[in-house]
Amino acid sequence: MGTAPAAPASPNASEAPNPTLPIAPTSRPEPPSAAPSPAEAPPSIADKRPEPPAGDTPAADTPAADTSAADTPAADTPAAEPPAAESPSADSPGADTTAADTPAADTPAAEPPAAEPPAAEPPDPVPSDAPTVTVSLTFDDTYQEQREAAAILEAHGLRGTFYVNSPRLHRSSARPSENAYLSIADALGLQERGHDVGGHTLTHASLTDVPESERVREILGDRAQLTRLGLQARSFAYPYGHVESDPDRSLGRRVLDIARGSGYTSARDTNGFSLEGCDPGPESLPPTDPFLLRSVRSVNEPPEGAERLVPPDTAATLLGWLDHAADCGGGWLPLVFHHLRDDCSAPDGPAGYCFDFAELDRLGASLASGMRCPGADAARCYRIRVASVTAAIAGSEIDGSEIGGSELASAPEVPGVGNPSLERTFDSGETECIQRTGASATTVFSRSTLARTGAASERLAIAAPFQAAAELGISRDYGECASFVSAGRAYDLSLFYRAAPEAAAPRLRIATYRLTSDYTWLPWATGAAFSAQSPGSWVRVSFTTAAVPEGTIAVSFGLRQESAGTINVDDFDAAAAD
Ligand SMILES: [Zn+2]
Repeated sequence: MGTAPAAPASPNASEAPNPTLPIAPTSRPEPPSAAPSPAEAPPSIADKRPEPPAGDTPAADTPAADTSAADTPAADTPAAEPPAAESPSADSPGADTTAADTPAADTPAAEPPAAEPPAAEPPDPVPSDAPTVTVSLTFDDTYQEQREAAAILEAHGLRGTFYVNSPRLHRSSARPSENAYLSIADALGLQERGHDVGGHTLTHASLTDVPESERVREILGDRAQLTRLGLQARSFAYPYGHVESDPDRSLGRRVLDIARGSGYTSARDTNGFSLEGCDPGPESLPPTDPFLLRSVRSVNEPPEGAERLVPPDTAATLLGWLDHAADCGGGWLPLVFHHLRDDCSAPDGPAGYCFDFAELDRLGASLASGMRCPGADAARCYRIRVASVTAAIAGSEIDGSEIGGSELASAPEVPGVGNPSLERTFDSGETECIQRTGASATTVFSRSTLARTGAASERLAIAAPFQAAAELGISRDYGECASFVSAGRAYDLSLFYRAAPEAAAPRLRIATYRLTSDYTWLPWATGAAFSAQSPGSWVRVSFTTAAVPEGTIAVSFGLRQESAGTINVDDFDAAAAD
């Protein structure tokens, strides 16, 4: 509901006609759904590790911005129940429907013998001391085709866990025709139907490669957005996984610490259980560490340097992982899916991280049978239980305290902007999170090595004769870069600028924007114009907003230059003013 901004937006000739629009050039490149290795490609920014600005540690300052859904019990996920040991299932059609029709060539080393005969009728009951393998079907990265995956699971009475990135939900909801992501309605629908919807950071950041302020923002800011939307957001998955094995152990520990304090009750890794042996074995229940849930690897994760896994993982492959977990005495095995297609081998499909719908259907049928006897060997029979991650650990106790209780932990708002020191660039060379507005014939935007902190800043040069104002600001996106805010609060928006000493000091002013709840960016207030100070030196300029109007999700801001001259900008920040 748009109450009017406290200060009127000042129209300006330099303003793009549609302020919602110029996000394209600077928005974070999303892996096209057909791109290879979308999820786990090695981060390209590993060599840039800017110092965390001081004083921006986790915002413990803001209590419970939005916990509207706190009263929903955790254990509401109708996980498929394992059949009771005495259930009369002798005539159940095939606990193992996939083994027979899977070509032997698809079977990797860890599989049971390729010549495995079609499963005989499982003995009934499964011996009381038979192991149980709890399986969680997890889906990462907010891909739209996961809607269909959910429907396949539901047809078998199964529920999964969907690790989503909140800006992707916003993006898809704002422009449904353009984005191959789940929308907010999709995510809410999944939750309503008993699936678990968890978080996966704002931008799918490699959490050991960004400054501390961004680590916090990526995890807590994303969770706050998910809970604001009414999603329970109890489980989390590390983008790229392997947090604990980062070469800088202290950063890995720092990420774990933030996750532990985030309000999530678990965090899934993408490794840890080897198919070679049982040490370490599959995850246990309760888990050894709920913030380092072990899995094997992503399904159809290409080997290093390859485009795709050959032969690809099939339902039989994954059932082989279960068999191995059972041979290790049972435990908990999260399976990690990304893309799904009718035919992942099609030329236009994603090369890696892709699983065929038909294989998912086969897997679902096998899992739903509730038991499995590899090689038709009665001595190897085990029970299968399928549960979402949150349902699997609900009620577990670690060191005497229950994890994942019914109360949803609060999700404090986390202000701050993405890439505040402007160190990171896209592959195109453009600075992440910077939006350049107001091009004219005499305007030149560039990335600069002149930096207040780190090694880069952004430069705006407007030559005489002056034609039009131009602006360097934070990308007006869906929270990847813009600062999340709470209605009714005021914010200090600040940045540093440096006017070139060799030119006339230009006239400058702060301009602000706000993202409304229908995902439209509107110009908001502007500060008073002033002449650039202390040419040759970095100067901080700040603007305190009015109370944020109802129906505002995020704010963005920038420095607008209204006469000829050259400025550099660096070190943006947004913090609650009260
Ligand atoms: Zn991911």
